[in-house]
Amino acid sequence: MQITALSGGVGGARFVRGLLRALADDPDHEGSTVTVVGNTGDDITLFGLRVCPDLDSLLYTLGGGVDEAQGWGRADESHHVMAELTALGVPPQWFSLGDKDFGTHVARSLWLGRGASLSEATERLAQRWGLPDRGVRLLPVTDAPIETHVVVDDEAGGERAIHFQEWWVRHGAALPALRFTVAGLAQAAPAPGVLEAIREADVVLLPPSNPVVSIGIILGVPGVRDALRGTRAPVVGVSPLIAGRPVRGHADACLAPLGVEASAAGVAGLYEDLLDGWLVDEADAGSSYPARVRVRSLDLLMRDEAGAARIARAGLDLAAELR
Ligand code: GDP
Ligand code: CA
Repeated sequence: MQITALSGGVGGARFVRGLLRALADDPDHEGSTVTVVGNTGDDITLFGLRVCPDLDSLLYTLGGGVDEAQGWGRADESHHVMAELTALGVPPQWFSLGDKDFGTHVARSLWLGRGASLSEATERLAQRWGLPDRGVRLLPVTDAPIETHVVVDDEAGGERAIHFQEWWVRHGAALPALRFTVAGLAQAAPAPGVLEAIREADVVLLPPSNPVVSIGIILGVPGVRDALRGTRAPVVGVSPLIAGRPVRGHADACLAPLGVEASAAGVAGLYEDLLDGWLVDEADAGSSYPARVRVRSLDLLMRDEAGAARIARAGLDLAAELR
């Protein structure tokens, strides 16, 4: 079976790790492969290096090198390079990278500088983390350098756009977002293999990633949304919101400027044109959902890998019902 998942960073990576566990535990799934299409709207150039936060969270989580408590960055990390940059007064001071993590960004930037595409650089990093051996292919949604920006009020009564990372990390998403714009999106082509992975999949899964700045960006790359509408595979999603709140992060602050209710039903509405199945938490079982979407409720909290595997299994079961 070929499974394709669209993913942001921490929420998506934890779900996909659970999916791999669910597949490994089930003899019927021997030989199944997983293609992960990762969001690149969070990407940013810092200290002269190209940083891809969501792809890196996927690499480290699926490769067994993530800082578990944080959900991103490397385990057993030190921060000597960052301390030196701070001593040198090199901005930005609000984004911290660990020393091992720097290695990833140096290598990626070197390869990109020599003319490699982001897909090629990601493939080399995925090899380092053993992803092909686990039956996983990690594709950036596009090789074009796209960047999500957030439009906020400025002090002079006008508007200004700041990079998504500045809004999220520096301001904790507390500055009200007027809207999101994604630089480069309209001209971005899907990376090699992305549309095929969606069209030729047996199942497409939408992990509980941020619906606006993770999944929403992937859906905005020209051709991706149409591929999802047109695929024969059932498309099954997992709500990132439980009882009207994100489990972590600020998805509610991202939904507000879209005028979409922060709820499992609100997010389902965003995906209505392409969604076949929707997993919601038991707390949200009583809400009303788009008529064409088959809804199942279960405990949606990924407390650990086994919990994520349980949710992934429910997604696969619902997809099998829909096929
Ligand atoms: P990011 O790029 O690191 O922000 O990660 P994602 O976009 O992939 O995922 C972020 C979303 O994951 C947030 O909106 C969270 O609400 C959601 N999330 C995190 N942990 C859980 C969980 O245990 N269960 C569910 N249902 N959603 C979760
Ligand atoms: Ca992200």
